[in-house]
Amino acid sequence: SLLTTLIVFWFLAIAVAYFLSRSSMKPILESWNRQKQFSANAAHELRTPLTVIQNQMEYLLTKPKSKIIDQAEPISTTLDEVRHLQNLTNKLLMLARSDADIIQINRQNIALQKWFEQVIKPYVEIARSQTKTLLPVIHLSGEGQLDADLIRQLIIILLDNAIKYTPAGGAVTFTVEKLRENRLKMTVQDTGAGISAEDKKHVFERFYRSDKSRNAKTGGNGLGLAIAKWIVDEHRGTITVRDNHPKGTIFTVIIPLK
Ligand code: ADP
Repeated sequence: SLLTTLIVFWFLAIAVAYFLSRSSMKPILESWNRQKQFSANAAHELRTPLTVIQNQMEYLLTKPKSKIIDQAEPISTTLDEVRHLQNLTNKLLMLARSDADIIQINRQNIALQKWFEQVIKPYVEIARSQTKTLLPVIHLSGEGQLDADLIRQLIIILLDNAIKYTPAGGAVTFTVEKLRENRLKMTVQDTGAGISAEDKKHVFERFYRSDKSRNAKTGGNGLGLAIAKWIVDEHRGTITVRDNHPKGTIFTVIIPLK
């Protein structure tokens, strides 16, 4: 009868709606929500430096007769914020491209020992200029296939953090060695503030920063480690974080060389 048909259709409709909401729609909705959150966070991060630049420029316009040399402070503040924006937009672009699957990893043959020495060398100077020490321990031989640009970025992210979150006088150690089965192991160990157990669960998420580093105004944006994780995943490797003793943090990356 008509009534039975209607009831059957009604049940079917509910079953289909339930199925869509539970299974196939869920990842789509989740990824849509993540994208919305990403855009909102990105806009928020862009706003602060833009406000500072606007204020500095408005201030300079009130001093039309002043010499540039007497306005070094607002000018250099502006330049700092412009650099900050540049850094931020580069990272946002990188993550947007990775979401869109535009970047493909491009493994090249690298002469390992020489390549790592060259990447690390400038950071020994950068650490020294901040009265910190960076000790590289590089024991490699032969060649390996890596995406040199991406692995360089990964190393820079980890070293920048280790140096940034280590107080003056502290030490950072970078080690790299080959493991069995043609794998590469890198560690970045610092003697800095450390990362709490709760924060360790989240540091690889986009825009995540511990309250400690927010309060210390260390000037990051919480994107570095999300990019580092993406680079490692693209190489089918692993990245982990644990405590250094007596204090500080150790990041360990293991990637297959092929
Ligand atoms: P940021 O630009 O804030 O440094 P990251 O994604 O690189 O962004 O790091 C996320 C957060 O993880 C940092 O804000 C900081 O709280 C914490 N962190 C990362 N590296 C270290 C480290 N070596 N020592 C202590 N905390 C760290």
